[in-house]
Amino acid sequence: GLITVISRAQGPVDLYRFQRFASVKQRTMLAAEHPTCAWPGCNTPAERGQFHHLTPWSHGGETNVANLVTLCNYHNGINDDDPNAPPRRGRLTRDGGTVVWQPPHAH
Ligand SMILES: [Zn+2]
Repeated sequence: GLITVISRAQGPVDLYRFQRFASVKQRTMLAAEHPTCAWPGCNTPAERGQFHHLTPWSHGGETNVANLVTLCNYHNGINDDDPNAPPRRGRLTRDGGTVVWQPPHAH
């Protein structure tokens, strides 16, 4: 199903490179998109997770909703953040607007 969040909140939706950590507004939007960790098969609630940059901050990723996803602490730790490092556990990415898991060695 789909969830629509309607609430007044101050501040921009996208923070670009001005701030590394997701704002309260972004966290609310991301929890609506993924009420649980976005890693396939994980049911850790979003409120117990972290907000992960799909394109890593260290590689120029922006703190924009389209570049963020909810992950639990464990899956945020094992996600293959560096696209130039040898693949180990796969990584999350957006494909056509949908967050998908990209297995190791996939392109
Ligand atoms: Zn998880």
